[in-house]
Amino acid sequence: MSYQNTPVARAQRGEEVVFRFFPTFDKDDWDDDDRVATMFADEVEAILTNDSSNWTKEYPSLHFERAGKKGWGACTITLVSSATAMRQCHMAGLSCYDPSSENIYINADNWTCVSSACANARSSMANYRRYVILHEVGHALGFAHTTCNEVGGTGPVPIMSQQTKGIGTCDPNHAPIRRLEEQALPKKLIELMSAVDKVPSN
Ligand SMILES: [Zn+2]
Repeated sequence: MSYQNTPVARAQRGEEVVFRFFPTFDKDDWDDDDRVATMFADEVEAILTNDSSNWTKEYPSLHFERAGKKGWGACTITLVSSATAMRQCHMAGLSCYDPSSENIYINADNWTCVSSACANARSSMANYRRYVILHEVGHALGFAHTTCNEVGGTGPVPIMSQQTKGIGTCDPNHAPIRRLEEQALPKKLIELMSAVDKVPSN
């Protein structure tokens, strides 16, 4: 799947680029368990809006809003079984962003560290969760993949590297770092975010 040509379908509101998201879970996978849905949704919201190390920290113009409903111009972030993730992502053992439907599918085996994903990323469960949400949302923002080797093979591994498969010789990292991620960002989006960042806030 290529993310290179993903349009930046994000609303610009005044000085901000607004990214709306709707966290949910697959009812077929979870048997309509409201506790699963609430816990997942609250954690996703915390990662995208409250965490001290998220996309907004690196790009102050980016503003994240949790939508109350599916649709309505929001990117849906769904917790799914590994079987559903395989079907939707066409790749075993991974989570993914599908640009055609504006859906992010989070593989529950990775989310809960049942698989080797957390070990491969050399991350605790909490840090792996930060990584996978920020990585997939990064795709939705227009970022492509980068690798540990592409950033020199040492230091923190970029959020846009596929940490689920391993982090090479880099150090564990679960926060976007602008200078590392930007090489995977389309020029158009860099210009948009830079222009907005330069607008005085008073
Ligand atoms: Zn990816």
